[in-house]
Amino acid sequence: MNKQALLPLDDALELLLGFSASLPADEVVSIFDADHRVLAEDIYSKIEVPAFDNSAMDGYAFKHSDFLKSGGILKIGNRIPAGTSPVNLTPGQADRIFTGAPMPRGADTVVMQEECEILENGHIQIHAQPKAGQCVRHKGEDISLNSKILSRGQRLHPSAIGLAASIGLAKIKVTVRPKVALFSTGDELVMPGEIEPENMKPGAIYNSNRFFLKALLIRLGCDVSDYGILPDDLTETTKAFSIAAYSHDLILTSGGVSVGEEDHVKPAVQSLGQLNLWSLAIKPGKPFAYGQIIHPTKLTHFIGLPGNPVSSYITFLLLAKPFILKLQGANGTHLSSFPMRADFAWSKADKRREFLRVKRNERGGLDVFENQSSGVLTSVVWADGVVDNPPGKVINPGDEVNFIPFTNWMS
Ligand code: AMP
Ligand code: MG
Repeated sequence: MNKQALLPLDDALELLLGFSASLPADEVVSIFDADHRVLAEDIYSKIEVPAFDNSAMDGYAFKHSDFLKSGGILKIGNRIPAGTSPVNLTPGQADRIFTGAPMPRGADTVVMQEECEILENGHIQIHAQPKAGQCVRHKGEDISLNSKILSRGQRLHPSAIGLAASIGLAKIKVTVRPKVALFSTGDELVMPGEIEPENMKPGAIYNSNRFFLKALLIRLGCDVSDYGILPDDLTETTKAFSIAAYSHDLILTSGGVSVGEEDHVKPAVQSLGQLNLWSLAIKPGKPFAYGQIIHPTKLTHFIGLPGNPVSSYITFLLLAKPFILKLQGANGTHLSSFPMRADFAWSKADKRREFLRVKRNERGGLDVFENQSSGVLTSVVWADGVVDNPPGKVINPGDEVNFIPFTNWMS
């Protein structure tokens, strides 16, 4: 039998991304609904932020030269809470000011209230030596007029949404959400809640992939149709894909992409379009399929993830995620890793590039989960990231390794 050569991950990703192109439509959404969406336009600010010089502290605002002249004792003038219009400072006085309130005209410095003593005669004694201009937030220091604050292709996160709000935007133009049809495959699968653990037939297992894949897709901003479990049957699989293809941009499956005769996903996609099945040179996650279902009016992408839960999880993050982000026109989908110290030994180096489930320890190094089998989902929950280990590399305690934190990867 002709054994297929294993494809390096970077080659697979390049091939895969070559098939992905931004979906054409954009839509305008409330910024309340913009988290995780991809911006469809550059955003320029029509205002300066802050819009006026204001106090960074609850305290007193005065002119620094008055402070120097007065020996630190100044008469208390106006009271300026946040939200009031700017007032004029009377020379030689200090205005009572609150955080975010506009600086009085003529004042240039604020001292916080903790550094002031209120004297009996309506004066304050400033006990600190304030620097001229301190504790003042200047007009435009965050955002200057007409500056670009957010860029097309940027994935929006809570901080970016806050920034958009800070320039007065209530709505924002984002790229359309990819419509994704999700299928699990396998006669052995049972849905949690349908059959109690004590009544499970021998050979049956609970469907776990469906849940994490759906959650990951939702985090990526996809509009998910969850079609549940497909039996290991070619006719049913083909029919289901054909129907789903009409109304979705992507069909995502788990399981059934190996080369066993119970793996019907591959021939089903082939009969409806075309399929590239790749054996990836990674561990976990060897079998991975990309294809296209071609209807007269629509091309639907197909991604087949491996069935083993850890393989499914990792290949989703390594390959399906950047593909889906590219469908949304997102920039910068590459994975970033950073060096960390391994506090473990990994002597059984594999020929394939490995993604070892690891966790940061209190000593600033990484511990490894002992059982790295592709079926052990516990390893992913225990871990807070993976070590991206090159093929054939043995790891000794103290070695520097490439760490990819899940926090970056799963957001
Ligand atoms: P397959 O790729 O279909 O041969 O599946 C490989 C392994 O993953 C088998 O042990 C399956 O039982 C298991 N598996 C497949 N799909 C799922 C799923 N949705 N949830 C949990 N395990 C699965
Ligand atoms: Mg199967």
